[in-house]
Amino acid sequence: MGQIRLHVREADGELPFACLSCGAPATVRVTKDMQWYPPWINVFFFAGVLPWYIVVIVMTKRARLQAPFCDQHKGHWLKPISIMATSALGLGALTVGLIVLARNLQPMDADVQLFMCIGHIASFVIWIVIVAIAMRSGIRPKEITDTEILLDGVSQEFIDIVAEEDRNPTACRREGRRVENDDEYGDQPRRARPPSDAIEE
Ligand SMILES: [Zn+2]
Repeated sequence: MGQIRLHVREADGELPFACLSCGAPATVRVTKDMQWYPPWINVFFFAGVLPWYIVVIVMTKRARLQAPFCDQHKGHWLKPISIMATSALGLGALTVGLIVLARNLQPMDADVQLFMCIGHIASFVIWIVIVAIAMRSGIRPKEITDTEILLDGVSQEFIDIVAEEDRNPTACRREGRRVENDDEYGDQPRRARPPSDAIEE
């Protein structure tokens, strides 16, 4: 998985019709409104939730991505949600199970109580880790500016397909764009410029 820098207009409907996840011929375009704000903004959290939230609202950049996917990957963004929902249900079931067990085992040994308590806290921590991993996986914006979006988690195959279109001046899609938007995009190197240090995580 890699990163690709796209013009915001390119991301919104002008991408090659190949799956972002595997590079296979796409079957659908999934529209996704992406949001991003510079991670350093989170230092405002120490000033309080409200100041932080206001800065986030002001600084958040948005871009629409019309993401081409194959049949196999069209549920790409649903997977983290289902992982979170399933693991939350699992944690809920565990909690109910422990309460039922605790009621049926009265009087309970202090060691068993301690063990169950620690086990429950540990499973909650594991759940938070699962949610954090699920939220950070998949195709997501690494940076959004007024003109560009840096997408992370894109398959190398898709990156190669876009690079191939960039190299091939006869490809009508990019040729058309060059005539239309000569100054704005089309000839810029896509991965030559890394995101600024400020947004590196
Ligand atoms: Zn695919």
